Amino acid sequence: MKDWRKVNQMIIDGKEISKKIREEVKREIKKFGYKPKLAILMAGDDESSKVYANSKVKACENVGIEAKIYYFSESEESKFFDTLKFLNEDKNTHGIMIEMPLPKNFNAELVYDTINPYKDVDCISNYNMGRLFAGKPLFVPCTPKAILHILECINTQFEGKHAVVIGRSNILGKPVAKLLLDKNCTVTVCHSKTKDLAYYTRQADILVLAAGKMNLVKGDMVKEGAILIDAGINVYQDNIYGDADFESVKDLCSYVTPVPGGVGPVTTAMILKNTLEAFKYAVKGA
Ligand code: NAD
Repeated sequence: MKDWRKVNQMIIDGKEISKKIREEVKREIKKFGYKPKLAILMAGDDESSKVYANSKVKACENVGIEAKIYYFSESEESKFFDTLKFLNEDKNTHGIMIEMPLPKNFNAELVYDTINPYKDVDCISNYNMGRLFAGKPLFVPCTPKAILHILECINTQFEGKHAVVIGRSNILGKPVAKLLLDKNCTVTVCHSKTKDLAYYTRQADILVLAAGKMNLVKGDMVKEGAILIDAGINVYQDNIYGDADFESVKDLCSYVTPVPGGVGPVTTAMILKNTLEAFKYAVKGA
């Protein structure tokens, strides 16, 4: 048996992959000579959402995208929808992102039906979700797009491989599974009601973690040589962890993403890339 620990094991550098995408986006924006504009709508008081939103603004500025955060309190649902409708039509706004989670009293379903699909850079609208699953996407949601890009960067041979995705959310698990299916993988989707998770994870050539449960996957649940992409974000005692117990899986995998520094930075880069795509739709007059 091959010893992956000595031969092939590799920790994927998400920051490096992200840097390349950001440079590419920056170069393209320069050619237009006009700055794409991204509106970020944030409702409620969630402190970590504020941190994420601010870091998106910074990332945007670095590549020449103008980003503005619109803040709303929990009691400002109607103002939120008025602003969203205004931005939908505003010729100077090319991309719109809604910072999640929205306050519980907000009608999230109505948000998914209201956001202009051509500006919906994280692909949250029901329309865009339908287009994605019909194979004609306007946008691919940022984290699934990041995961597929990472897999492409390491020259993954997809065809016939067994991909196991843990998580079935509309924004992450389901689209990842669909994209892997498009790559001719055989895909298994596991979720909170799956019985004997390890039975499935042990079969995975490509294992994608998107559950948001720290230490969900340990070394004895991973096949030697598997590619493990960990999208989980779990905050514990001021540190960030993925869904895998990194120390126990890292030497078994042929490739593995760390948390932090794996999927996260590539996701941020994909927000920039999707904003550029939204800008191009506007330029083309879509
Ligand atoms: P979600 O809560 O909407 O979905 C979680 C999914 O995991 C559900 O489908 C659930 O069935 C499944 N699940 C939960 N517990 C499980 C268990 N014990 N066994 C098997 N399946 C289980 O979350 P989400 O929005 O899809 O996000 C998932 C994780 O990814 C979170 O940690 C989130 O913070 C992270 N995330 C990361 C990025 C990034 O850029 N890296 C972006 C978005 C979300």
